[in-house]
Amino acid sequence: MEKRDRSGQESPFIREALLQEPADGKVRCLTCERRCLLAEGQAGWCRTRRNIGGRLHTLIYGAVSSLSANPIEKKPLYHFHPGTVALTAGSWGCNFDCPWCQNWDISKSPPAGGRFMTPAQFVAETVRRGCQGTSISFNEPTLSLEWSLEIFRLARARGLYNTYVSNGYMTARALELLVEAGLEAMNVDVKGDAQTVRRYCGTEVEVVWRNCRLAKAAGVWLEVTTLVIPGVNDDADTLRGIAGRIAGELGPETPWHVSGYYPAYRFTAPPTPVGTLEQAQAIGKEAGLDYVYVGNVVGHPGENTTCPQCGRRLVERFGLRVRRCDVVAGCCPHCGRRIAGVGWPGPGQTTPQIFNESFS
Ligand code: SF4
Repeated sequence: MEKRDRSGQESPFIREALLQEPADGKVRCLTCERRCLLAEGQAGWCRTRRNIGGRLHTLIYGAVSSLSANPIEKKPLYHFHPGTVALTAGSWGCNFDCPWCQNWDISKSPPAGGRFMTPAQFVAETVRRGCQGTSISFNEPTLSLEWSLEIFRLARARGLYNTYVSNGYMTARALELLVEAGLEAMNVDVKGDAQTVRRYCGTEVEVVWRNCRLAKAAGVWLEVTTLVIPGVNDDADTLRGIAGRIAGELGPETPWHVSGYYPAYRFTAPPTPVGTLEQAQAIGKEAGLDYVYVGNVVGHPGENTTCPQCGRRLVERFGLRVRRCDVVAGCCPHCGRRIAGVGWPGPGQTTPQIFNESFS
């Protein structure tokens, strides 16, 4: 199979993959922990990588399915350069099988072309739009590893930050390369306990925990999200288990977002009741977490940040936008407690004007 699209044209989206090894006359993909072993012509589980002529190739290099300038709070990253804007790109495909996927239109689709952007074009667009950083998101960003690495190096050289919103299933080597290239913050989805993640997503949650620990140890700012789904992971034991592991393995200052699900893709369970999210928030706080946020409920007070020491409200948000930020030089102005995070506004600074604009 040649590096051509269906019309016979040389495809800009097909490039040799970075992480691979020959094995048993085939090629093994080392991008994520599925570690697919592929015969000539065969595509991986995610359908974004294929053995072409005995070498592994990505089929989605520079393929942009969606592009938008989002508040960093939308990732969600609440303690990382609050109030700034990240130019955000998604591509196609996923390495998980979640039947409730909220972005199924791009994640469950085979590579479908889209707009081609070189890393230099993406970074130039980030600057031109007045964004403060980049984010690879919407579908699983690990599948865009090669493109991400080039973007991160260029963006870092321009003084921009780089972020990922991920299921955390990359190989340790892929994560290491991302950190070296300039990954500064990541939101990772922890979808449930081992049994739940194996049953619904076809993957091993221990890999996700390992990568959370590795990212944290490497100095990446980490926030964790759990989409709370009725009948799947909304029981107190599961939520307590996740909260306890965040506190114990990642530290009590790691923010946890308990977000409401809406029926999508193959899942028809009703949306998560707000009361369930409030219980999840209480469970997180009982487990010792300093910052637990209710997500996907616009206007809920659980969007706000309060000081873990004096209880005063420090950051007021509404619908993923910062309305007011009183954190001064990383501390509570009332009791002096350090508020975990990166890029809090300095004394006298306000958060930049934020916007949310889709381009494709
Ligand atoms: S990135 Fe895709 S092809 Fe590679 S191991 Fe993961 S699922 Fe398989």
